[in-house]
Amino acid sequence: LDQPERFDMLIGRLKERGHRMTPQRMAVLKILTGSTEHLTAEQIHKRVVKKFPMTSLATVYKTVNLLKEMGEVIELHFGSDSNRYDAAKPYSHPHLICTSCQEILDPDIESIRDLPQQIAEQYGYKIVGHRLDFFGTCPACQAKESRSSSVPNIR
Ligand SMILES: [Zn+2]
Ligand SMILES: [Zn+2]
Repeated sequence: LDQPERFDMLIGRLKERGHRMTPQRMAVLKILTGSTEHLTAEQIHKRVVKKFPMTSLATVYKTVNLLKEMGEVIELHFGSDSNRYDAAKPYSHPHLICTSCQEILDPDIESIRDLPQQIAEQYGYKIVGHRLDFFGTCPACQAKESRSSSVPNIR
């Protein structure tokens, strides 16, 4: 499903379950489904209040938790940092994580895509999910690092 379809589908499912769709809740949903950035609840909140200043962080958490119960968002834990959310792809998928700026990407590589199937075949498991995280430094942070570690010009 592309983003607008997914947004509509989730609204439909929430309504079916008897949840009232407030404009604030819709805004949270729109940001969640429309972003590939793997936002924290705080980041989602910051974006929602731009349009709906009265929205509480609790509203964001309530909506995220509802989607979690429905299996429509994945939550990524990273030690003591805030959890990150991905509602664009609510199924197991690999992540590429910059340990310097905390950017998270969804690498789409054929050999990784085939991995669950290969593992299922080789070990006879019925695979229901996986965690596959690649940690490193993104190109932008690498550039910053090499600039800051270079010897400063002394005139
Ligand atoms: Zn980075
Ligand atoms: Zn993701």
